[in-house]
Amino acid sequence: MICQSCGIEAPTKQVTFYQNIGALVVRFSQSVDGLLCKNCIHKNFWKMTLTTLVLGWWGIISLIVPPIFLLNNIFRYLFSLSMPPVPEQAVVPELTDDDRRKISPHVESLFHRLNEETADLTEIANEFATRIGVTPGQIVLAIREIALSSQAET
Ligand SMILES: [Zn+2]
Repeated sequence: MICQSCGIEAPTKQVTFYQNIGALVVRFSQSVDGLLCKNCIHKNFWKMTLTTLVLGWWGIISLIVPPIFLLNNIFRYLFSLSMPPVPEQAVVPELTDDDRRKISPHVESLFHRLNEETADLTEIANEFATRIGVTPGQIVLAIREIALSSQAET
């Protein structure tokens, strides 16, 4: 719903991509892990996969690691191809005071729902967004804001 890489409000998918750079004795690995939008999945897949393909192979461990990383990246990428693209009008969501006022009467029932065992953030955010007249991304922002401020108090 909110991309953890670029922050845009768009459909996201959980992905993990790995990159390996082999350098004879040492090797440098990196990974990206999170809920990403299709644009960021695309960008990270190509960057990390091409880097591993070109620079991944020097050193002994680096002969074993790159094929595993490459296979993982390719499978994850293939699974994400069917996801909906980032909408053209997609923006990074923001909360205005007006939105906060709209959301605040619903906060209690919102958190009540989130504490249910089968709670699904995406589903709940969509449901409340429709009911309140804001976007699901703004609901997620509001939840984050309230969670952070209650953390600061304790
Ligand atoms: Zn993104």
